Amino acid sequence: MIENQKLETHLISLSNTLMELLWPLRCVGCDKLGELLCEHCDDDLPRIDSQNRCKRCGAPYGCIVCTECSGTKGPLPLSYTMSVSPFEFCDAAARLTVIYKDQHEQRLATLCALAILEVMPKDWIQWADLVCYIPADRRAIRKRGFCHMRLVAEEFSRLTGLMLTHVLQKETVRDQRSLNRSERAENLARAFRLADTSARVMTNEKINGIKDTTDISGKNIILLDDVCTTTATLNIAGEVLLTAGAIEVRAATVCRVY
Ligand SMILES: [Zn+2]
Ligand SMILES: [Zn+2]
Repeated sequence: MIENQKLETHLISLSNTLMELLWPLRCVGCDKLGELLCEHCDDDLPRIDSQNRCKRCGAPYGCIVCTECSGTKGPLPLSYTMSVSPFEFCDAAARLTVIYKDQHEQRLATLCALAILEVMPKDWIQWADLVCYIPADRRAIRKRGFCHMRLVAEEFSRLTGLMLTHVLQKETVRDQRSLNRSERAENLARAFRLADTSARVMTNEKINGIKDTTDISGKNIILLDDVCTTTATLNIAGEVLLTAGAIEVRAATVCRVY
């Protein structure tokens, strides 16, 4: 057993060395060699002050609740109760997500999970039973070769010890980036459903140390995504989780557009 562990450690270190030789780390902001985010670019990434965000939808400058959440027409209906994000969406944050998703720099998954964890109120981890994520649709997974938020959620699960669930499935719908607010809502209304029992992925705990479950009934869930633009994606996915029996959903995204 100890021999096996030693072999495993050697193999991981060998594969890290090979990765570094073949695909050296480059800063997502300035392309400098050596690290994924250099100190200078890290300092330049606009942070959302977690004390000053809207506690409900996570928008920057919300103080207690933002104008959308306390508006005269009443608050936006949301399926999740609270939300948090480390970064405001800007050029550097956009580059980070593009390099991660479309240029396959999967080592950014850890950076994203750590950034979220840094700003997440500590009591969320005690409160939560499970971590879930907004999955990419099948076409995107085929094209990229991986589900980017699944990797972030796995890292988040490793870092917090929270159990992971893969119950959400995304249908192939139109690309959200070209749509206006009302078109997005319409497009998203049919975007998420519970994965078929047979299609729900279970990871092998013995291999990767991640515990997961398909049972979300009666659970408090932290839902992760990369970018929150209009709250619509998180809202609809959160609704699916609540309909399936989750008690409460809180959201966390790497970036927040506002
Ligand atoms: Zn840099
Ligand atoms: Zn708000």
